[in-house]
Amino acid sequence: MTTTVNAYGAISATDPLEPMTIERRDLRPHDVLIDIDYAGICHSDIHTLRGEWGEIAYPQVVGHEIVGHVAAVGSEVTKHKVGDRVGVGCESGSCGQCEQCAKGGEVYCLKGNIQTYAGVDVDGTITQGGYSQATVIDERFVLSVPEALPLEKVAPLLCAGVTLYAPLKHWNAGPGTKVAIIGMGGLGHVGVKLAHALGAEVTVLSRTLAKKDDGLAFGADHYFATEDPATFADHQAEYDLILSTVSAGIDYDAYVDLLAVDGTLVLLGAPTDALSVTPMKLISHRRSIAGLANGGIVDTQEMLDFCAQHDVLPETELIAADDINAAYKRVVDSDVRYRFVIDAKTFG
Ligand SMILES: [Zn+2]
Ligand SMILES: [Zn+2]
Repeated sequence: MTTTVNAYGAISATDPLEPMTIERRDLRPHDVLIDIDYAGICHSDIHTLRGEWGEIAYPQVVGHEIVGHVAAVGSEVTKHKVGDRVGVGCESGSCGQCEQCAKGGEVYCLKGNIQTYAGVDVDGTITQGGYSQATVIDERFVLSVPEALPLEKVAPLLCAGVTLYAPLKHWNAGPGTKVAIIGMGGLGHVGVKLAHALGAEVTVLSRTLAKKDDGLAFGADHYFATEDPATFADHQAEYDLILSTVSAGIDYDAYVDLLAVDGTLVLLGAPTDALSVTPMKLISHRRSIAGLANGGIVDTQEMLDFCAQHDVLPETELIAADDINAAYKRVVDSDVRYRFVIDAKTFG
């Protein structure tokens, strides 16, 4: 027995998204049934549906920035109750027993995590994401959304928010540290707000100055254009942490030169080309280049609580299900300020 719910998904890598129905499993003892209120649109959704990150099975429903209310709980659920405001991010399953899972690093589960969409669930079915009316998720992967956070704004925190919060926390961004963020899109703008709220000195490195006023309003102390060679000449060895949110390749040598002694360049976007960097640039300043997925469940809950305390919210544009295809075009064209959120009532 399963429950049929309305959703919006794709039947191939090249077709536009369309209304469809999908099946949600009956509640296992530790499952939570969530009536979805809002789902964010992440660029990963588009890459995945179009097969740009590898072949997937169709039909596929994506969406890993999910918020809603608990509608029912399984017999052994203790973490959530009916009516709770909850969220789901990029992962919705893991072994629960390895050393990474034991310390809340489910995203790095040694047996592999289960992605919220296009993943293989324990029963062998393909997971279907949040562009739908409801979903069923193991309680371990269901976050509590603090009352202070308005539900219609909060969805992008579940991916974009934790993807920026996790490196800021891991590399100790805070008072006295200089953080630069490459790219001022869906990820980058949340990073500016979070880094500022953590007390760091924040610089945006964007191709042009087109979004400078926004960046400064979000809490950036400085905003420089990377198309201007002076940006690189004037800020050598300056930043403790540089977070790259862009998924195109960048001139790694040029950005490594901007790192202070012990500085780290962290890749959050995922360019497909191998990276090339001059080793002496790392050696001379004890610099690092690192990568990071998003955070585990502990980091994600901490991020939500931090955002509630510090009034950090993404900039969002609310759309209806019928607007998804147009929204995808605008995401690909970098024509969104700064994240689309789908009103789940419009799934029918
Ligand atoms: Zn995402
Ligand atoms: Zn594990």
